Amino acid sequence: MAQNTREKVQTLTAQLNRYRDEYYNSNAPSVSDEVYDRMYDELVSLELETGICMTDSPTRTVGYVAVSELEKTTHPIPLLSLDKTKSVEELVSFTGEHQILLMLKLDGLTVKLTYEEGRLVEAATRGDGDTGEVVTHNVRGISGIPQCIPYLERLVVSGEAFIRPGDFEKLQEKLTDSNGERYKNGRNLAAGSVRLLDAAACRGRRVMFMPFAVLEGFPEMELKSQKLRKLPELGFQVCKFVISRRSLTCQEMEEGIGSLRQFAEDNDIPIDGIVASYNDIAFSRSCGRTGHHYKDGLAFKFEDELHETKLLSVEWNPSRSGEISPVAVFQPVEIDGCEVSRASLHNLSFIEGMELMPGCRILVSKRNMIIPHVEENLDRGRFVMSQAVPERCPCCGEPARIHESRSVENGKEKVTKTLFCDNQNCETRRLRQFVHFVSQKAMNIEGLSEATLEKFIGKGWIHTYMDIYELDRHRDEIVNMEGFGEKSWQRLWDAIQGSRNTTFERYLIAMDIPMVGNTASRTLAGEFHGDLAEFEDAVHHQYDFTQLPDFGDTLHNNIHEWFYDEENLYVWEVLQQMLNIEKRTVEENKDTVRENPFVGMTIVVTGKVEPYTRSGINEMIESLGAHAGSSVSRKTDYLVCGENAGSKLAKARELGIKVLTPAQFFHMAGE
Ligand SMILES: [Zn+2]
Repeated sequence: MAQNTREKVQTLTAQLNRYRDEYYNSNAPSVSDEVYDRMYDELVSLELETGICMTDSPTRTVGYVAVSELEKTTHPIPLLSLDKTKSVEELVSFTGEHQILLMLKLDGLTVKLTYEEGRLVEAATRGDGDTGEVVTHNVRGISGIPQCIPYLERLVVSGEAFIRPGDFEKLQEKLTDSNGERYKNGRNLAAGSVRLLDAAACRGRRVMFMPFAVLEGFPEMELKSQKLRKLPELGFQVCKFVISRRSLTCQEMEEGIGSLRQFAEDNDIPIDGIVASYNDIAFSRSCGRTGHHYKDGLAFKFEDELHETKLLSVEWNPSRSGEISPVAVFQPVEIDGCEVSRASLHNLSFIEGMELMPGCRILVSKRNMIIPHVEENLDRGRFVMSQAVPERCPCCGEPARIHESRSVENGKEKVTKTLFCDNQNCETRRLRQFVHFVSQKAMNIEGLSEATLEKFIGKGWIHTYMDIYELDRHRDEIVNMEGFGEKSWQRLWDAIQGSRNTTFERYLIAMDIPMVGNTASRTLAGEFHGDLAEFEDAVHHQYDFTQLPDFGDTLHNNIHEWFYDEENLYVWEVLQQMLNIEKRTVEENKDTVRENPFVGMTIVVTGKVEPYTRSGINEMIESLGAHAGSSVSRKTDYLVCGENAGSKLAKARELGIKVLTPAQFFHMAGE
């Protein structure tokens, strides 16, 4: 069958549809009825000859169908997505010695089509991968889908329904979403259109379909590319792809990506990346899957994925140390399929350096595809420190203080400005301190939630940590409080009593000396034999903490400064009298591992993980009861991926090993 005959079916379908639209919508057809009829007859005979008839063919008499709701359908082969990377190097290492298919990553909605005995029987969305929605009624409104194909075996293809950027621009003018707002991108509009209940409405949206994979059909073929090349014979226009030689250099990979990108731009096709997958079907199958991804492919996301939005305001949140941390609140943008509207601004210096003021246009990204980050301010030059930064603590209204800390980075002195509330009685600050004090890693008092603490503080029952151990003074009032009762009170009081038996480490963490967390307190427990008095004595004798592993100048100063404060010292001494601190030797300490999800796991670290040295972070991993591995293998459970990660990340992706950012890791570890 000649290729131009098949293409003629598609061209004639599109042309006739345009004439029909002109005739019905603007009453000004650009061809005469005679020409129209002749083209129509030609299409009829070509459809007979090729066995291809597009769903939107004017020869089909079935009208547009509307349904009342979308039915659900299960995908026997789950339609999973692929893992993503932004590194060409990683892509190259993923491909290894294998021949790969390098393909456009279309930016739309994934749709699966099923054909039986040469006829389209179902069109369904991807949904969550396992269950999608049936949109068969809508295929007449989407171009590029054949209704009849000259292939009688069962055929299942997956592909993308999308709107060309050029068409989207025109449509954006006149269409609004269900909230009356303009569509922000073509993907949302395409997704909304495919899921419309009324096919006639979908038709006006110029949605287009292109297959990118053959899930069933042509079982005799061994390569994905062979199957894809059969699709044009059936009336499909296949997503653009190229096949690689075996083993590529980074430069070759970059060129391949570059040329595909150019193709998409020249042909007005919306893409958000490039997909690489193994061409060999048997090998692909052997790669298996993780919970969410097939492992035979990797999606390459374009590096410069910055999203422009508007900074609405900066939120200032006091923490328990008194530091007031800024958070950017901006107009929501969609990044990697998630709506993002907030990002940490770290400290004053960051805001100052970025010259951020509410109303500025900013560029945001998701670093490592996880953490939202403000990357640039497009409206610099209007920064006024006094307007950008509150003079008073937003919680207690006391004057806020700008603190400057100095550090040396790459041989240069760096000053970091942070905003502080010094009011020891600042409510948010105090609440956070108590929340920390009762937390699992500190005194571990179950039942004293943030909400309960807030109530007790509000009633004036808790001013100091000691007050918690004397809460029975208010027993009757607590029992009569809303949501409380005899039982709840007893449970709470038992938990408080239970927490009196505690350890050196827990006590130290509860005291909240800046930067003294699980790891530092363990080290100190080891050094001072789990004896608080011995530790305190060392502080008073100007002990040099920098001699301990991973203790730097800041941590050293933090400890000394903390003990210099009379109030701290008072709490330190009085509270100890109320508790029973177990004395244990270091060896015993090693046997007790705090509850955490990493016990017994093998964890490998790559890249820089602030503020740890490599040996420091490995020690911390061991302290979690996990094993710190040096290289990624099938036995690795987690890879913690810091800044400047190298080939270990690629290896981990290849093996489908769970990758964590340092922030995720510390969070899970309870640090
Ligand atoms: Zn305050």
